[in-house]
Formats: sequence, C-alpha cells, structure tokens
Amino acid sequence: MNPTPPLLKIAFDPIYAHPLPEGHRFPMLKYELIPEQLLYEGTITPNNLFTPSACADEVVLWTHDKEYVQRLHQQTLSAREQRHIGFPQSPQLTRREFVITQGTIDCCHFAMEHGVALNVAGGTHHAFANRGEGFCLLNDFGVAANYLLKKGLAHKIIIIDLDVHQGNGTASLFEKEPRVFTFSMHGAHNYPFHKEKSDLDIGLNDGTDDKLYLSLLQNTLHTLLDQLQPDFAFYLSGVDILSTDKFGKLNVSIAGCKQRDEMVLAQLKAKRIPCVVAMGGGYSPDIKTIVEAHCNTFRAAKDIFSW
Ligand SMILES: [Zn+2]
Repeated sequence: MNPTPPLLKIAFDPIYAHPLPEGHRFPMLKYELIPEQLLYEGTITPNNLFTPSACADEVVLWTHDKEYVQRLHQQTLSAREQRHIGFPQSPQLTRREFVITQGTIDCCHFAMEHGVALNVAGGTHHAFANRGEGFCLLNDFGVAANYLLKKGLAHKIIIIDLDVHQGNGTASLFEKEPRVFTFSMHGAHNYPFHKEKSDLDIGLNDGTDDKLYLSLLQNTLHTLLDQLQPDFAFYLSGVDILSTDKFGKLNVSIAGCKQRDEMVLAQLKAKRIPCVVAMGGGYSPDIKTIVEAHCNTFRAAKDIFSW
C-alpha cells in the first residue's frame, strides 16, 4: 500500500539559487535556505517538494511579447535592459525564470486540489509584457493567471500583492483584463517611483507599523473578497515589509509579517478560494531574518490548512 502523498505541494529546484557575481545585493542564497530550514525543523518532508519543468514558450507568449521572449532565449538583452533587471543574462538565468514560472503554474493545479500550494521563488511582479526590471524577467503570476483563464480553469482571479514594492508589471499586464483584479499594498515612497495603476492600490506611509498595516489589510481584503467573489487567488508574500529591511521603509515586525500571512490564508481558506503563494522580495541585512520570515509563510499555510 502506498502512503498518502502529502497535500502541501511546494515548487523548488536547485536552479532557483542562481549564482551571482560576488557582493551582489540580491540574497539569492535564501532559495536554498528556505527548503533546508523547513526540512530541518520538520515542517515539511522531501515529499512535499516537487521539481517543475521549464514553462513552454507557447504558454509564456500568452503574456509576454514574442520579441522579448526571443531575446531572453538568444541572450540578446542590451546592457541597459540587464541593468534594469539587475542580473547579468545567461542561458541558466533564462532557464531559471522558465522553471520558476512553470512552478507557479503547477502550483495552480495543486491549489485547486488541496486549497493552497507554494513556490519557493516567484512573485516576479516587476516584469512587463516586453521587458523586465527589479530582479524580474518573466511575470510568473501573470503567466499563470492567463493560463488559468485560457484553459477555462478560473473566471475571476485576484492577485494580492503585499510585497513592499508596487506590482507595477502585474498592474500593467491586466490593466484591460476585467477577469483579473490586481490589488497591491506597498510603500508609497518606494520603488517603482513611477507606479502603474492596479485595480486597487494602497500606498503606505514610511514607518507604517503592525497595527495599522494589519487593520488596513483585514478590512480591505474582507470587503474585496466579498465584492469580487474570485474563484482563484495569487498571493505575493514579500518580506520586505519588515522593519529590518534595507529598502522597505515600513516598520512591520516579524510577528506582524506572520500575522499578515495568516490573515490572508485564513480568509481565502474560509471562502474556499484556491491560492498560490510566491515569495517575492526581502532584503534584511541578516539572511536569517529573511529566511525566517519566508519560512513563516510556509508554517502558516501548513497550520491554517491543517496538515
Ligand atoms: Zn519587493
């Protein structure tokens, strides 16, 4: 008799932790450390993890421009484009982006079965149809949302983007798509300085603390979900809202950040809305803080969905 497979599915591949030049400001190591910590403490077993393949061009092209995708494959991004993205181009980096994107799509299927599924990377919300920026090349939520619509698997999708930076790429992708509602709560005085228009933007003042952050979120999300009645949700759980973050400018504690995750996941579960979670940003100087805050998202998912 086969043992029952675990219900919490997590997308991960070692390619997620892409090697970067010495001293690069992106904490790439977190992608290795998050599953390592979750396994070590017993929150998950190796059976929870699955390895995605690379997303097919055909699917990526429902969201991204052909010419841009070709340039990603042919390694012909200009020096300026690479500067905006923040990573040097390489075939391995391109493959990484396609694998992460497929991870988010696979998570959609698992979430429809089990309520929630998580990607150890992803949430690359600064990628536009024809360009990348801010460490984002492909918009995984964008590609996955269009995949669900195209396949008739969802009809009203909400993207809940709680990274401290506005989901500008995502907002732009779905500006004219009424079936995808984009909600971004972010630092008002933070990158991107030119903001796109989400369906709902909440710009937070510098220094916003746990109490204000959580009460704003609670009220907004409750009303939104009641009004929209979405049949699928994506949640971008960036941990750059932490007070310790180098770029964040907010004043949210690690406990407050965990409460945020619990709040989102509990509301989605109560309303039976399948949810895919991707990690997004986090730039606290001590990588242990980043990893701990991201691990809290997985712990919250496990607790709330009671596995
Ligand atoms: Zn961010």
